[in-house]
Amino acid sequence: MDFSHFRRLPIIDSHVHFVHPERMDQLLALLDEVPCTRANLVCIPNPDATTHNPAALFFKRHHPQRVYLSGALDYAPVLADWDAAPRLLAGQAAALKAQGFDGLKMIEGKPQARKLLPLPLDGEAYAGLWAALEAAQFPVVLHVADPDEFWDAQRCPDWARQSGWDYSDGSYPSKEALYAEVEHVLARHPTLKLTLAHFAFLSGDLPRAAGFLDAHPTVCFDLAPHLDMYHDFSRAPAAARDFFLRYQDRLLYGTDLDTRPLARNPDGYAFLRAIPWLIRSFLETDGEFNLPGQPALRGLGLPQAVLEKIYAGNFERVYFGR
Ligand SMILES: [Zn+2]
Repeated sequence: MDFSHFRRLPIIDSHVHFVHPERMDQLLALLDEVPCTRANLVCIPNPDATTHNPAALFFKRHHPQRVYLSGALDYAPVLADWDAAPRLLAGQAAALKAQGFDGLKMIEGKPQARKLLPLPLDGEAYAGLWAALEAAQFPVVLHVADPDEFWDAQRCPDWARQSGWDYSDGSYPSKEALYAEVEHVLARHPTLKLTLAHFAFLSGDLPRAAGFLDAHPTVCFDLAPHLDMYHDFSRAPAAARDFFLRYQDRLLYGTDLDTRPLARNPDGYAFLRAIPWLIRSFLETDGEFNLPGQPALRGLGLPQAVLEKIYAGNFERVYFGR
């Protein structure tokens, strides 16, 4: 998989998971190869109420020029004292900033996480947190919803089911209920610096995606792939290109690179290299391109000035106002 034909531009990957401190050199080698100038390490809570935050801080201590950090909320104190959740969560934005984090990451809008931690995003528990994030203009990356297929037992892929992402038994919030929670939060906090991961799972409905961005001027989408996201775009290449040009200030390059596949499987490295190759091919290629073993995809051939924003400029504006 060749990266040499892509534009030589500064690249900030806004969506990278770093869970294993012992794999720091492997992840660095991957970032060099892709190449990626700097990665935003997005931390999430573990099911045992620890978080990825210590691993991210470890990376930053060794390679401060290669990463930005988006911290996870720490639910350990909340589990010990639910009544104090609003206060305990609200204080964490400032605490993360003081520790050297550049923003917050929340996986709490993913149905699996939302069921495990039954706190509505628009409920009392998070009310003070959203207010603090908005007041401090501290950016947050939020995973909300998931691909439609995961709510449908017939269409849910086996790998998703094995990960616990089959939501068809009725015990999970619906996709629309999760979107409604985000709408309520934004109605109360219209200047929140919010980035919705994975294009907000709206790649199959570009008019709705456009309406959402129009209604919420401080919201961005990241381009970390989900299931069929780039196939969705490829099915309507002209509409996708119009969208990317019109919302060129609202889209952040992101891959979802993750050290967990490296830890699980010896082929993880090859799999991971394919993701930035796919996204960059989509953004830069004018016409058809092929990911081995996949149906042909259609690239957007975006102009250099637009690529510069999506690859780095938009992240720098959202996170650092420059
Ligand atoms: Zn992710």
